[in-house]
Amino acid sequence: MEEQKELFHEVNESYTMLEAINEAKRCLHCKVPQCKKGCPISHDIPDWIHELSKGNLGNAMKIINDKSNLPAVCGRVCPHEKQCEGHCVLSKKGQAIHIGKLERFIADFDGGMGLIRENLQPKTRGRIAVIGSGPAGLTIAGDLARKGFNVEIFEMEPEPGGVLMFGIPEYRLPKEIVRREIKKIEELGVVFHCNTTVGTDINIDQLFERGFDAIFMGTGTVKPKKPDIPGRNLKGVRQAVYFLRKVSLYNEGNIAREDVPIQEGDRVFVIGCGNTAMDGARTAIRMGAKDVEIVYHRTVNEMSALRSEYEEAVEEGVKFNWQSKIVEILDKDGILNGVVIEHNGERRTEKADKVLMAIGSVPASRVVSTTKGIEVDESGYVLTRETPCGMTSRKGVFAGGDVVNRPSTVVLAMRDAKNVADGIAQYVDAIKLLEAINAKDWAGDKN
Ligand code: SF4
Repeated sequence: MEEQKELFHEVNESYTMLEAINEAKRCLHCKVPQCKKGCPISHDIPDWIHELSKGNLGNAMKIINDKSNLPAVCGRVCPHEKQCEGHCVLSKKGQAIHIGKLERFIADFDGGMGLIRENLQPKTRGRIAVIGSGPAGLTIAGDLARKGFNVEIFEMEPEPGGVLMFGIPEYRLPKEIVRREIKKIEELGVVFHCNTTVGTDINIDQLFERGFDAIFMGTGTVKPKKPDIPGRNLKGVRQAVYFLRKVSLYNEGNIAREDVPIQEGDRVFVIGCGNTAMDGARTAIRMGAKDVEIVYHRTVNEMSALRSEYEEAVEEGVKFNWQSKIVEILDKDGILNGVVIEHNGERRTEKADKVLMAIGSVPASRVVSTTKGIEVDESGYVLTRETPCGMTSRKGVFAGGDVVNRPSTVVLAMRDAKNVADGIAQYVDAIKLLEAINAKDWAGDKN
């Protein structure tokens, strides 16, 4: 297991204190900061970098906390090269400030030292149920708890975190970091109910009966798409997300090695070229696959994976078949043993042991199919309104993140959740006010 831990050791190193402060000192503290414009949650980047440059880590953390509940996560997995760092004025000279790495440094330092003790508001504004504890659910829970709401999260897995815990591999986002961020949200007074599937163990109507004033669905897109390829139902063909989850469970000592669907020496083909495909390929290498190849129907410039992810994958030995597609998965006596790849109209057969599929995912229908009145589009994405922000067609039920907007990055799910948190607060305050007015009128009538 020690060897296994080493294989999944975080790939990107953290700054030392000296390195972090020196990096922070390079920031120009621009009057009109382009970095902030590039950040989906409008982080006050120059302000916290300025505090860090003076060694005031507590102040820096306080500023970060105002906008983000998951800074140690964002510092690691956000696409900084496309967002804050890509917009930094110094990027024109190829010297952008390493904002992500600085955010990670401050969040880790705070995690280790416990710099911030927040003054919590009394929880008097209402009760909110949150379904799902991925980035959207955690963000909304943290924001609403800080605003004075009682928040309870319902999570179907044995541990909270959603995609952060079971989807993003350890070498990019260590589980202990996710657990630490969740603990901070717990300290805000948020209650977690794990092993509880809304739609099976309890439904939306029963949650309202339990006295919740509003419900937030942050259930993500957990149903992976399947390509229409002959042989796709063979045993050796697996969804990359399923494989990543199994590896997570194995690394935590919860399942045996043979339950992980890739064995040492396997030749693996991965269909797709987004971040999940990249995670699947790089994880397969760590699990001992002898050869891992990504097959993608477009070019390197059209892939949705981050360039940095791709470069690291190449470095680790992943091979790429551009403008190619797997048109058939072959077997001998029901056991997968090859793939047919088409490139420029020509077909070739390659020996294969396993195929991972990573072509995207759609929402599961578990929540909406077990209650009435929540409208979805033809692909199952939940329809929401602008006012109050994020409310579905059912009064008091809100939704946000991937289950509304289609699969996206952690930070975009967080941005959406922050807006919906405002919508929920507005809605609950309004119904409480109406209740109070009605109760007063009734008392007045009686007199
Ligand atoms: Fe600092 Fe770059 Fe932001 Fe300017 S754009 S404030 S230099 S991080």
